Amino acid sequence: MVKFPEGQARKYRNVFICKKCSTKIRAQSMKITQGKVKCRRCHGKKFRSVRKK
Ligand SMILES: [Zn+2]
Repeated sequence: MVKFPEGQARKYRNVFICKKCSTKIRAQSMKITQGKVKCRRCHGKKFRSVRKK
């Protein structure tokens, strides 16, 4: 496992990408898992983290 520097981890932790239209959304991960965040473009509720391929 590669350990990321703290600053970089913080930079990407709260950023998610819409699975439908791949718009970047900055939100708290808790709100993402609770489904409280909507994509501003397609209003989708499914997101993935940035780091994931
Ligand atoms: Zn979207």
